[in-house]
Amino acid sequence: MPTLALLTQHAKQAALESALAEAGYTVETVHGYDTDTLGTFTGEVARRGTQLDAAATKAKLATQLSGQRYGLGSEGSFGPDPHVGLTAWASEVLAWWDADEKRLVYSVVQGPETNYDQTTANTWDEALAFAKSAGFERHGVIVGRPTEPHFSKACDNWCQLEKHVRGALAHGPVWLETDMRAHRNPTRMAMIGRCAEQLSQLLRTPCPACHSTGFGEVSPIYGAVCEACGEPSSALKAKATTCAVCGHVEQEVLRLTVPPSRCDYCNP
Ligand SMILES: [Zn+2]
Ligand SMILES: [Zn+2]
Repeated sequence: MPTLALLTQHAKQAALESALAEAGYTVETVHGYDTDTLGTFTGEVARRGTQLDAAATKAKLATQLSGQRYGLGSEGSFGPDPHVGLTAWASEVLAWWDADEKRLVYSVVQGPETNYDQTTANTWDEALAFAKSAGFERHGVIVGRPTEPHFSKACDNWCQLEKHVRGALAHGPVWLETDMRAHRNPTRMAMIGRCAEQLSQLLRTPCPACHSTGFGEVSPIYGAVCEACGEPSSALKAKATTCAVCGHVEQEVLRLTVPPSRCDYCNP
């Protein structure tokens, strides 16, 4: 089985390896590189470029550092949901890189399955309530900001957390945030697992024309025709899957016509 070099400090290998074994790869973690120099969630180091860029950079670095042909990079991103902006939203990217063919294949999974949250606590009771809703101790909670003397990413039991928070509260309100590093966030680890399954599926799907791996980049095609007036509507008509290497397109038609209630002309 070819080796897939994974650049991570946060023990993601366990979440990935069984899915990628199904695509024929053995995952091997590349040690000795500080991925935090590429950006951290707590902002000690700002991340450059997009989430896709960041995952691709890690995958490429993994091949350079390991000497392997194939590399894997993982990058998460968290914030308010893109629809209403009221609930937390997570997105995970995995990038697979073939250093010989200079090819990238991406897998993206996103959704509201995250404990991503922050607060300023004025009392231990407030901190306790936050930590409970964050899923502590199974999930990590970070105390303070990186520039503050009581900053800690290392509390992993209630006793330590209380000691750190009470120490910080002696100087005023304390900033708390959920730890989004994968090894301290099993909810995130599960989403990375789903992202790996999707990537594995892509890597097992060759282009029907040129047989390149990673056939599955799907884009929507709009314009189903109105049954009454025959004009194209803005409704989804088909899905197209395009090969990134040879440009071969496979179309799956979902519906050719829609009722006039879906027509912009008959029912504006
Ligand atoms: Zn119409
Ligand atoms: Zn192709």
